[in-house]
Amino acid sequence: MGKNILILDFDGTTSSHVPNPNEATFESGVLEFIKSFLEADSRNVLYFLTGRDPRYLQSLLPQDLRDHIEIFGNHGLSKIDDLGDLIVSPEAREYVDATSDLVAGLIAEIPDLKGHLEDKTLGVVLHLRWLQDVVSDRIVLGTHKFLSNNPELAGKFEAVSCDGVLELRPRLYHDKGTALYGLMEELGYDNVESLFYAGNDIPDIPAFTAVTKICSDHRIRGHNFVVVEKNSAIEHSHDYTSNKDITVADVVSLVDALGVHLLDKSQIRPGFEAITRSYLKSEQS
Ligand SMILES: [Mg+2]
Repeated sequence: MGKNILILDFDGTTSSHVPNPNEATFESGVLEFIKSFLEADSRNVLYFLTGRDPRYLQSLLPQDLRDHIEIFGNHGLSKIDDLGDLIVSPEAREYVDATSDLVAGLIAEIPDLKGHLEDKTLGVVLHLRWLQDVVSDRIVLGTHKFLSNNPELAGKFEAVSCDGVLELRPRLYHDKGTALYGLMEELGYDNVESLFYAGNDIPDIPAFTAVTKICSDHRIRGHNFVVVEKNSAIEHSHDYTSNKDITVADVVSLVDALGVHLLDKSQIRPGFEAITRSYLKSEQS
């Protein structure tokens, strides 16, 4: 019998969005679910796959869980090793110094950025969701001006905007989908019994697609859990999910859905079914 793999995203999936990205933390019930999942079956294995620097998630996990969870960061370009140190994949190593230059330059040029810049060690995210339009526009303009004045950095990072953030990410052929295939190659497809992924945003789409294809090609049981908040970028994306996927309306409902589907929990919070059904209904209509 193979392993049961569950892969979780962090921002907007297992943590709710907050104005200061450096204050994001696990939604209530997430750590309890993780503990129950790992204890329920010795074949259950849990990974985080986040766009963040993986050390941020490491700092949020209690020690007894850290030893049993592998954390991939920067969409899979980095991870925490067994000793708890950061490992950056070889193709991304030149981006560590480039990111320091980028962070220092942006903060020096754009005073509004304070508290809204997330340094990911390999790239940065500017969190604009909670800002007034005029401030957000000033940051976006300032960033593009900084990049056009610094062509060497502009050549290394591409600007991608989605769902209230502007991300400057390494120009590498890499996403959460390639990260997922890499993990499966490492584990060996035959050693995997089931595969589940939970995410909420555009960068998760390659992972959703990979899970659907891997499950069908290798006859592995599994599906995606998709958190679709109202007016989010993914809500307006038409190709994010297959009909096998489970869609929930927010982070709290995801915790319930994971419990119901992966732990056979019959105790669910009131409102969970109603939320899920209303989403399904609006998708069909
Ligand atoms: Mg996310």
